[in-house]
Amino acid sequence: MTLLTNARIVLPDGIRADGWLRVEGHRIAEVGPAGSAPEPSNTDPHEASIDLAGRHLLPGYVDMHNHGGGGAAFSSGDVEQAVRAAAFHRAHGTTTIMASTVSTELDDLQRYLSDLAGLVEDGLLAGLHLEGPFISKARCGAHDPALLRAPDPALLRPLLAAGRGTVKMVTLAPELDYGIEATALLANSGVIAAVGHTDGGYGITEEAFSNGARVATHLFNAMPGVHHREPGPVVAAIEDENVIVELVNDGIHVHPAVIGMVFNAVGPHRVALITDAMAAAGQPDGMFRLGALDVEVSAGVARLAGGGSIAGSTLTMDVALRRAVRELGLSIQEAAVSAALTPARALGLDHEVGSIEAGKFADFVVLDDELEVCGVMKRGEWAVAPK
Ligand SMILES: [Zn+2]
Repeated sequence: MTLLTNARIVLPDGIRADGWLRVEGHRIAEVGPAGSAPEPSNTDPHEASIDLAGRHLLPGYVDMHNHGGGGAAFSSGDVEQAVRAAAFHRAHGTTTIMASTVSTELDDLQRYLSDLAGLVEDGLLAGLHLEGPFISKARCGAHDPALLRAPDPALLRPLLAAGRGTVKMVTLAPELDYGIEATALLANSGVIAAVGHTDGGYGITEEAFSNGARVATHLFNAMPGVHHREPGPVVAAIEDENVIVELVNDGIHVHPAVIGMVFNAVGPHRVALITDAMAAAGQPDGMFRLGALDVEVSAGVARLAGGGSIAGSTLTMDVALRRAVRELGLSIQEAAVSAALTPARALGLDHEVGSIEAGKFADFVVLDDELEVCGVMKRGEWAVAPK
């Protein structure tokens, strides 16, 4: 049992100064009122009491779109690399992480999904996210156009089966052949259909949402922009209250003013901050692989080699949150909603993670006054012990 005292506990609707909470096993047993921390038990030798000295205690971050980090790639399909990538992001506060693949030959992809499924079954990963190959050639970003396919259910079903129920999200372009059929099939199978890497317009995107799609994959990136006579997928996503929009808040993918506009339009309960990170996150500039393609990272910006498309990011969730507070002017609790509770809700995991509440997993990030990570707990164990 662990007692955390003297924390500024970040709750979805405010901050509880001088708060305390008790962790038992993997879960939060009790979140106490301000200022009345119980005396640590002197009869229980297993109890640790930690004074957080007024630092912020946030729910562990939930990253629903992530290709890797720390030099290791989920999209390699390699289990050892996936373990390293998850550990890298955990040290930056991400206690719930989806592993995103990139477009790959279908038989290789089936093998990757089946190998990575074990890590979801073990609780290391929250699920697998298939990004490609069911996306638009015109908006393929850092996906090899030669590998792209229409989302024919005959191709989709074996991939879902290979993941043994761990494929939780599929990004697809609804304007492709079978696009709406595949969207409905995913929604009816309990898999999140996410609209992204699409060249479709407002109408087809609306149709995808009314057929069960619930997420817009990295809003603005790899899709048509907003035009006053062609509102496109962005406006369709913003106006549908059931849709959660992903944003890459690294200052590169989307201008901060546009991110601020989306927060003003839909609020933090519909924005999920994601990293879309790749192996280069946390590494010096240089050459990396993203799926089958070479990526060059210069000044922290990942692009396809030869000066091409933006190819994922080198972002971590702690930086995404810090930027949301510093650059966008969000409150810490609003930023925490978008970094934890909203993505947890998108994934259907908000009964377990995403906010600090008795009964949920003891997944926390401790932040100092500079909003730097100085402690991370996952399921009751310190991944980074608070200094
Ligand atoms: Zn991605």
